Amino acid sequence: MIGSLRIMSDAPSPRSSVRRLPERASYDRDLINSIIDEALICHIGFVHDGSPVVIPTIHARVGEVLYLHGSPASRMLRGMRSGDEISVNVTLLDGLVLARSAFHHSMNYRSVVVFGSPRIVADDSEKLNALRAITEHVVPGRWDDCRPMTDTEFKGTLVAALPLNEASAKVRTGGPGDEEADYELPIWAGVIPLSVTPGEPIEDPLLRVAVPVPPYVSRYERPV
Ligand SMILES: Cc1cc2nc3c(=O)[nH]c(=O)nc-3n(C[C@H](O)[C@H](O)[C@H](O)COP(=O)(O)OP(=O)(O)OC[C@H]3O[C@@H](n4cnc5c(N)ncnc54)[C@H](O)[C@@H]3O)c2cc1C
Repeated sequence: MIGSLRIMSDAPSPRSSVRRLPERASYDRDLINSIIDEALICHIGFVHDGSPVVIPTIHARVGEVLYLHGSPASRMLRGMRSGDEISVNVTLLDGLVLARSAFHHSMNYRSVVVFGSPRIVADDSEKLNALRAITEHVVPGRWDDCRPMTDTEFKGTLVAALPLNEASAKVRTGGPGDEEADYELPIWAGVIPLSVTPGEPIEDPLLRVAVPVPPYVSRYERPV
């Protein structure tokens, strides 16, 4: 720890230490960042009025900070005003693992769990950078093509910043791990790989003028 800042390292906090199948765990900053960057969405877990809630939302990473945004009316962001702790999960699904027994079926994945106390971003330039980062996280190249935000839109959006100080990754790769005797069985086993594949872009019928499809749309892909 340096002051109140825990530097992400090979020494995770007790609650960030993966105990189940720890051989799948990593606390490597580059790996954690790459999973966060590739994922389009995350899930935020928080307690609201004494009840646990998990809400899916968009995120973006800038350096060692995870930014979240939304309406000031959202429960998720309202809770953050009070400095409550949250937990964030990011998951990339890489494959379905079919074993010979139902028991040993699994999934290949890369996932991250983060703990921390977010702060609401008060500084306008940090807030604008965060909103740009969130837009660019989803569609790189889009921000500069957009009409600039109005004052009302800017003021009507809340941005929260969560330091990525306390995070873990867990990764499963490879084929099924069956019981030795089951390898004799004539049952197909293996992996169905999965990935995010964009379809053909669908033009908005309300486009008033012919606008060519930007390359960041026609060649859309997630960072790997
Ligand atoms: C797509 C997918 C499907 C899964 N399906 C199942 C399932 O069906 N059943 C099941 O039991 N588990 C499943 N898991 C694994 C699950 O995420 C947990 O790792 C597991 O349940 C152990 O949880 P725990 O709290 O007991 O682990 P512990 O090891 O006690 O957790 C301690 C700490 O380790 C970290 N941690 C735990 N899990 C993860 C993770 N996945 N990624 C990053 N950090 C983590 C967190 O910081 C957590 O607080 C799945 C994971 C993924 C990504």
